[in-house]
Amino acid sequence: TQATIIDGKKIANEILKNLKAEVEDIVKAGKRAPCLTAILVGDNAASATYVRNKMVAAKKVGISSDTIRLPTETSQDKLLEEVNKLNNDEKVDGIIVQLPLPKHIDEQKVFNSVLRTKDVDGFSASNFGLFSLNMCALAPATPLAVHELILRTGIETKGKNAVVCGRSKNVGLPIAMLLHSDTHGDILGMDATTTICHRFTPPDQLTHYLQNADIVVSAVGIPNLIQAHMVKKGACIIDVGISHVKDPSANQFKLVGDVDFENVSKVASFITPVPGGVGPMTVVMLMKNTIIASRLNSS
Ligand code: ADP
Repeated sequence: TQATIIDGKKIANEILKNLKAEVEDIVKAGKRAPCLTAILVGDNAASATYVRNKMVAAKKVGISSDTIRLPTETSQDKLLEEVNKLNNDEKVDGIIVQLPLPKHIDEQKVFNSVLRTKDVDGFSASNFGLFSLNMCALAPATPLAVHELILRTGIETKGKNAVVCGRSKNVGLPIAMLLHSDTHGDILGMDATTTICHRFTPPDQLTHYLQNADIVVSAVGIPNLIQAHMVKKGACIIDVGISHVKDPSANQFKLVGDVDFENVSKVASFITPVPGGVGPMTVVMLMKNTIIASRLNSS
């Protein structure tokens, strides 16, 4: 059997269309279009690409956008000052500070400085706290993307076993939060029995947990971490990993996830590809959050 490939790009485009209609309604009602502003510090090429992708999606939806570029040597105080300016700017609805930040800057401190109603990444302590309590307006985009993709497979999640590989504060942990939590809350939890594996999970234990998992979400950044023999037959596999590996045949870099896609797709029932799975959906969820933020800010 061959797993159904979850086409994140196609689903993302469908949702983008709906969001575009929502923005049109906002504008028809006489309000200005939602506005997303990104702060990009330094000259990391991948970060610049991510920000560019977000701005392209914003344009498609009719969200106005702006990117503030700051040099690598920008001080933390200067960055906090920039965030504060945006917090106080009535024309800005959503603020994103693209990761990674230079080493001399405390990322969490910067996230915490973003006004809660403009924190469309959901990384501030206040939003993350609310999210953990299942009462959040702005949840982080990657968990929302994972949620939407799982929802669209139509599989049951209640009482099922889920394994999340990776426990980063921005990705793995909030995904686990969403999978384990109660459906009857603001964040639309999935009621799954959820296990978090991380860098100190011994390989045999990783295999043990994965072999019992109906749903696997991997956010690690290690190519081929998840192999066919580790996966339960019929499992749903969501690959959040992104690694750039050298493609020997073409002598260039290509994007791969954490999952041995070719072999795992012979065991799983659903699987997301990389690229074209979680990535495009995450960008769309950020747009959705920006529209929610524009309502929060105008009410
Ligand atoms: P991201 O922010 O995209 O989640 P990070 O690089 O910050 O990525 O986090 C990688 C995560 O993967 C960490 O939580 C780490 O503990 C986890 N990890 C690393 N190696 C393994 C492994 N062999 N098995 C499971 N998880 C792992």
